[in-house]
Amino acid sequence: METELKGSFMELRKALFQLNTKDASLLSTAQALLRWHDGHQFCSRSGQPTKKNMAGSKRVCPSNKIIYYPQMAPVVITLVSDGTRCLLARQSSFPKGMYSALAGFCDIGESLEEAVRREVAEEVGLEVERLQYSASQHWPFPNSSLMIACHATVKSGQTEIQVNLRELEAADWFSHDEVATALRRNNPYTQQQNGTFWLPPKLAIAHQLIKEWVEKPNCSTLPA
Ligand SMILES: [Zn+2]
Repeated sequence: METELKGSFMELRKALFQLNTKDASLLSTAQALLRWHDGHQFCSRSGQPTKKNMAGSKRVCPSNKIIYYPQMAPVVITLVSDGTRCLLARQSSFPKGMYSALAGFCDIGESLEEAVRREVAEEVGLEVERLQYSASQHWPFPNSSLMIACHATVKSGQTEIQVNLRELEAADWFSHDEVATALRRNNPYTQQQNGTFWLPPKLAIAHQLIKEWVEKPNCSTLPA
């Protein structure tokens, strides 16, 4: 196929960052949908094979008529600020040197606000005072998430962090200058050599969130 089409297969995770927004979104939706169908071949109640509808938007169990719809798991991405600095963290699974905003799955029964407060408390031991919604994005890996990005502020004078090392490898406060500089020279290859940190690429919602904060560091300190 590669020879016939004069192309080559590459990992979708890498390809997404080389495509324009429209193509990237189309590909990630298609991949998420195909994977969902693949993983929902059987009814979880009766164990019978399910059938896909013509459009591919759902699957039905012929024996008990249960309808299954593709699902996304909500994930909160939170950029915590103390008014002048922002908090960036890294998980051990991140590429070397990359720091990002805090992220975590919403638990069942939780509101978005509750998930943000719990995640921030769990991961770095801080209490969120105010939070503000920024934007959202579908992310196909590992299993279709709806990434919901928020700015959060902590009470001034309560900024001492306690990094939860079971969830994070490192977390720290970064000054506006440090983050603005990192955004400007956001090329992982040069930065790995210099030993400096780098931020998620443009397509990632965390990048947009960090950029928003750099352009308007006090946007999250407005009354919510
Ligand atoms: Zn069934």
